Amino acid sequence: MQPESTFVLVVGGSLVGSSAALFLAQHGVPTILVERHPGSSPHPRAIGYTPRTLELLRSVGLDSSIPEVPREFRLQRARIESLAGRWFEQTDWTPDKAALLEEKEFSPSRGAAIAQDRMEPLMRDKARELGADIRLDTELVRFDQDAEGVTALVRARDAAQYTIRAAYMIAADGGTSPIREALGIAQRGRGHIRTVRSVLFRAPLEAYLERGVHQFEIVQPDLQGFLTTYGDGRWVLMFSDGRERARDALRQAIVQAIGRADLAIEIIATGLWELGALVAEQFRKGRVFLAGDSAHVNNPIGGLGLNCGIHDAMHLADVLAAVLRDERPPGDLDRYDAVRRPTNIEYVQQQTIANKKRLEERDAASRSANFDALRRTAADPAAHRAFLMRTSLLDSVRKLGAAA
Ligand SMILES: Cc1cc2nc3c(=O)[nH]c(=O)nc-3n(C[C@H](O)[C@H](O)[C@H](O)COP(=O)(O)OP(=O)(O)OC[C@H]3O[C@@H](n4cnc5c(N)ncnc54)[C@H](O)[C@@H]3O)c2cc1C
Repeated sequence: MQPESTFVLVVGGSLVGSSAALFLAQHGVPTILVERHPGSSPHPRAIGYTPRTLELLRSVGLDSSIPEVPREFRLQRARIESLAGRWFEQTDWTPDKAALLEEKEFSPSRGAAIAQDRMEPLMRDKARELGADIRLDTELVRFDQDAEGVTALVRARDAAQYTIRAAYMIAADGGTSPIREALGIAQRGRGHIRTVRSVLFRAPLEAYLERGVHQFEIVQPDLQGFLTTYGDGRWVLMFSDGRERARDALRQAIVQAIGRADLAIEIIATGLWELGALVAEQFRKGRVFLAGDSAHVNNPIGGLGLNCGIHDAMHLADVLAAVLRDERPPGDLDRYDAVRRPTNIEYVQQQTIANKKRLEERDAASRSANFDALRRTAADPAAHRAFLMRTSLLDSVRKLGAAA
């Protein structure tokens, strides 16, 4: 039987694979996406989309379905004993953006906060509408490549196996990327940082958001962790230790973090994350490209992983479409590695390391000095602008985009 053929096969249908299919479909590039799961993970991870990412999503018609953060929104964190207990310190995560948000030079978008499991279906539906062939419950089993393309064996839910022939393949198969492993591409960086276990739950805690704080560091002698909300009644508590807890212990920890036992709590799911900071040594091997976490993983603090992954997908879709239309030679596909790898090393990894250091500072004087520095940045328009351009990845897109 003749294999099915397509121009691009995308493996992985989470945020990065779905956005790759979406950007490719918008360019009219024949694309098949395979995702082994029937839908999104019940435990969402990412929630924050930078202004530049939202610009990209708006450009492919995802607009009214993604609400922008309110103009006056400022991400704030607090160190607390518990939501209902003592609040020790409340701080801004970034300087005030309001003044700059009006500037078109910064971005016409304000960014968005929408849980990963709600964003992924929006992206996949839009990609389908634009012509991408999205196949959930379908797994890549193995692949080979030659000078003309990639031959992939896939398995559908009914266990039927079949072959897809593609001119190019995008590995958006996550941090453990079996495709990256099969290609023998090594990773460089700090490697394993720590194991994080989390519990996702639903509880009526909206009253505790009224002070404008959305992220909470829980500091108790026998409980340390990070508590935040997906803004839809769901909350996640991430434990600072990597200890596995039974259901009763999870419930007890949630009660402790809330600081009261009289609320209805529904445990939805648990999570286990192996955090690391690694960048693949090559983002391309032959006709296969790595994008998103398969190419780079880092600590989620600051929320740059997903945003950078979506920027990978956009860059790759642009250049693949230009090659398909004979507007650029296939050799230009090497620009993807040349542009996106430095972006990760120069911007994402460095910013993430700085964020982590800032958050984990335990010395009171150093914490206070860090916050003073942030306030000074906010008060100085030039420094303030530079900070926002860097942390929202606009600098990286503009500087390295010019080299694309
Ligand atoms: C706790 C936490 C919070 C985070 N918060 C943020 C945030 O606020 N902002 C941000 O920017 N980033 C955040 N991140 C990082 C972000 O979640 C990741 O960068 C993002 O999910 C990476 O997406 P991806 O599509 O590259 O990989 P994944 O999301 O890992 O998806 C890979 C997909 O590939 C599929 N797959 C794998 N192998 C196969 C196969 N053989 N065949 C078919 N399908 C396959 C998997 O089923 C999976 O769906 C967070 C991460 C964590 C851990």
